[in-house]
Amino acid sequence: MIPVVAIVGRPNVGKSTLFNRILGQRKAIVEDLPGVTRDRHYAEVNRYGTPFTLIDTGGFEPISQERMLIQMREQSQLAVEEADLIMFVMDGKEGLTPSDEEVAKMLRKVEKPVLYVVNKIDGAKQEASLGEFYALGIEELWSASAEHGRGVSELMDRVLELL
Ligand code: GDP
Ligand code: MG
Repeated sequence: MIPVVAIVGRPNVGKSTLFNRILGQRKAIVEDLPGVTRDRHYAEVNRYGTPFTLIDTGGFEPISQERMLIQMREQSQLAVEEADLIMFVMDGKEGLTPSDEEVAKMLRKVEKPVLYVVNKIDGAKQEASLGEFYALGIEELWSASAEHGRGVSELMDRVLELL
């Protein structure tokens, strides 16, 4: 069995964009509407030496804040069950949200590697937004721009190290 990597996080943080970026092609549905991904997308990735299965998670939209949190918990739980490594993606443009904090808290108890990724850090200027994410108390915080590819190869090096 090849290892499984799952991408989880709130709607609109850039999970599908990251999924596509890692795949090296557009496959997942990326939309401006938050959470447009209707279900889970699976892809086999072969371009990094170690093959792995990548899962993009999503939910139904529109949903209430409460429903979103329930869905995020479910998606994260599923990811924890079926993945060997979890990438938890947050939005550096929007900042740290209470839902992020809640899911991060849950993921901290997981005995699998979890990489915490702050996405939408498109340039050096945006790096200042990383500060507040350190409140999560995570020693290993990654920053990336899924849209522009910034930080993604470093992130992938770490993923492969942990697989
Ligand atoms: P998902 O709901 O988490 O799967 O998010 P999507 O991948 O569908 O992206 C949601 C929106 O964020 C889209 O408009 C993307 O173009 C945008 N986005 C994704 N990654 C980045 C990024 O690195 N930088 C910026 N500025 N926008 C991004
Ligand atoms: Mg999506």
